[in-house]
Amino acid sequence: MLRIFNTLTGRVEEFKPIREGIVHMYTCGPTVYDYAHIGNFRTYVFIDLLKRYLKFIGYKVVHVMNITDVDDKTIKGANLKGVSLREYTDFYLERFMEDIETLRIEKADYFPRATEHIDEMVKIVKVLLEKGCAYRKGDSIYFRISSFPDYRKLSKIQISHEKSYSRIDSDEYEKEFMSDFSLWKGGKEDEPFWKTEIGEGRPGWHIECSAMSMKYLGETFDIHVGGVDLIFPHHENEIAQSESFSGKKFVNYWIHCNHLIVEGEKMSKSKGNFYTLRDLISKGWRPMAIRYLLISTHYRNLLNFTFNGLSQAEQTLQRIENFLVELESAKEREVSNPEIKDLIKEAERGFREGMDDDLNISIALSAIFELIKELNKIIKDKPISAKDKEQIMDFFTKIDSVLAILPLGKKELPEEIMKMIKEREEARKRKDFAKADRIREELRKMGIILEDTREGVRWKVLKDS
Ligand code: AMP
Ligand code: ZN
Repeated sequence: MLRIFNTLTGRVEEFKPIREGIVHMYTCGPTVYDYAHIGNFRTYVFIDLLKRYLKFIGYKVVHVMNITDVDDKTIKGANLKGVSLREYTDFYLERFMEDIETLRIEKADYFPRATEHIDEMVKIVKVLLEKGCAYRKGDSIYFRISSFPDYRKLSKIQISHEKSYSRIDSDEYEKEFMSDFSLWKGGKEDEPFWKTEIGEGRPGWHIECSAMSMKYLGETFDIHVGGVDLIFPHHENEIAQSESFSGKKFVNYWIHCNHLIVEGEKMSKSKGNFYTLRDLISKGWRPMAIRYLLISTHYRNLLNFTFNGLSQAEQTLQRIENFLVELESAKEREVSNPEIKDLIKEAERGFREGMDDDLNISIALSAIFELIKELNKIIKDKPISAKDKEQIMDFFTKIDSVLAILPLGKKELPEEIMKMIKEREEARKRKDFAKADRIREELRKMGIILEDTREGVRWKVLKDS
């Protein structure tokens, strides 16, 4: 049974979805005005881990990640470049999609764009105006915090601290009360705007998420997840708008991922410690080492990203990969080793126990390392059966459906490697076994394992080439 920390209650709780067997989950997605940085990816990779684990324990997951493609930053970027907002945001959205693929983050079921959901936002704002929870000032519309007594139930922040937490827009000076926030911003000359029933203008940031989450997941859903900086005011505001609109509880579990800092300091361009995923890859780091580093700190702890840590992540990954290569080439015998089944069972138990405990990744990973240690001892001096090997590989494949760090499975191989495989086949047919074995060994060193089956040769890739 998964237990997870719920920011709303401030406690680790048993996770129970509204509908048995299915989880409805919403993620505040990127603002597509620039390349996403490794801090953003800490949060997205964590969300991926959570989603993959929910699937691992048997849930179907319906996942929505919104795309913020209209706000001050995207508008400014498009204006500076002299292109349309759409053209500008399309570019960064495509780069984001490439990046999440690089990090093996599973795609959401829906990636709704704010600019394509203006009608849904207008509908909510209209109801909020009718209910007296919102008011007009000039051409803008604000949410009236005093109409929602539960405000701050998520963040529990005292009013006196609010100023330092809140991102206050300069154009919001007309509000009745300082923490009232804008639902709709009146149109400005150099900004894109929409002509709607509530006037000409563009939506505020918070209303986007309420509209898009409720559209795809219903008025009450299971999980809402994002980085800790979103707790206040963004998520607090989402709750106020959504619950005032529907009269129902908005979300059952609010899950927040702590931040990433770099070499002990907040990441910032001016300090020169700001990295996008692409920056790290162009320095030669493997995406899977980056992913491993990002998942290996518990999500509620601050993650201190260092290059030393990244290099250790790379070494750990290589150790696991080397083990898999060794395993494939370990000596075989007919009879299975009964110890292996028990070791795998114990590792899976440890992995689940860790993950079930608020996604305690350190405990989960140590169960895997313990297994590798024990198996290494076995294959070093005792042969194992083909069935044993298969069981071990199946286990690693299963675990990797959650961690997504190992280069398992069949991939399309580069042409020259396919040529080597073919050459070996021909050598075998000619009964030139010396040559066939030489090629097999060469490929093994490259992390490609060949298996001769009745249906022909099969291969497994154990290393990113
Ligand atoms: P943004 O595009 O700024 O709205 O951020 C996208 C996501 O990244 C949000 O869930 C943020 O909370 C998260 N985020 C931003 N900075 C960091 C950071 N330094 N560490 C972890 N997550 C972050
Ligand atoms: Zn949001």
